[in-house]
Amino acid sequence: MSERDGNWRTAVIARIAALTPRMRSYFLHAPLAGHVAGQYLDVRLTAPDGYQARRSYSIASRPGAAELELAIALQDDGEVSAWFHEVAQPGDTIDVRGPLGGHFIWEPPHAAPVLLVAGGSGIVPLVSIARAWQAAPAAPMLLLHSARTPEALAFQPELAGIAAADPRFTYVAVSTRAGTGRRIDAAMLDKALGHWGHLPALCYLCGPTAFVEAVAQLLVARGVAHRAIRTERFG
Ligand SMILES: Cc1cc2nc3c(=O)[nH]c(=O)nc-3n(C[C@H](O)[C@H](O)[C@H](O)COP(=O)(O)OP(=O)(O)OC[C@H]3O[C@@H](n4cnc5c(N)ncnc54)[C@H](O)[C@@H]3O)c2cc1C
Repeated sequence: MSERDGNWRTAVIARIAALTPRMRSYFLHAPLAGHVAGQYLDVRLTAPDGYQARRSYSIASRPGAAELELAIALQDDGEVSAWFHEVAQPGDTIDVRGPLGGHFIWEPPHAAPVLLVAGGSGIVPLVSIARAWQAAPAAPMLLLHSARTPEALAFQPELAGIAAADPRFTYVAVSTRAGTGRRIDAAMLDKALGHWGHLPALCYLCGPTAFVEAVAQLLVARGVAHRAIRTERFG
């Protein structure tokens, strides 16, 4: 591996676990530096003929956890996600580099109220933030989690459990095509923020670009400063 190749390391897929019908967790053993909640890894796959594909995946695990957890949604005709879902087995190796990302991170102690908003697989870095918060709870935290169907709400039982154990953590799950049948709109945001009783000092929005932009606009219209909004777009 040359210097120009950029710090790639070999990671072993230690185990695989289903999260939803289209999302799985991949637990890696990887010789990487520790991460901060909200960061991601670059993943590189190499075919026998030398063809390479690279993608970024957020880290779901709590900082300091023994295994690095990536949670990957299967995309229709997606190159890399399909390899993970249809080919990858425990014991397989992949190239990884990171942890990467310096703006979409959360570290305790943090006294100010924090709003997290996830669309689809955008829940992954926010799970790491929720897990980091659980290990050192301080600020009130509200997590709004949107997915197409109730079954697609990855990590829902764990997140509901964090909320049940500590009233400072609030979890609101919505599904857009079944169940509650609603998108995160102005009325829902007002209701959730009103119920919560705090104005967010910091907001973390993650998911598809259109989702992130729509929620950011709603927050700005409610008086949240641009600089208080951190975004991660999955494309
Ligand atoms: C910082 C960051 C963190 C991320 N974290 C996560 C995460 O935690 N979990 C997660 O699941 N994803 C995450 N993503 C998204 C991830 O990087 C990939 O984009 C995603 O897995 C899709 O990759 P793929 O190779 O499967 O699909 P791709 O092959 O890239 O295809 C994506 C879509 O485009 C379509 N497409 C591809 N080529 C064409 C074409 N020529 N014409 C028309 N359509 C086409 C495919 O059908 C597919 O639906 C993250 C992205 C970023 C930037």
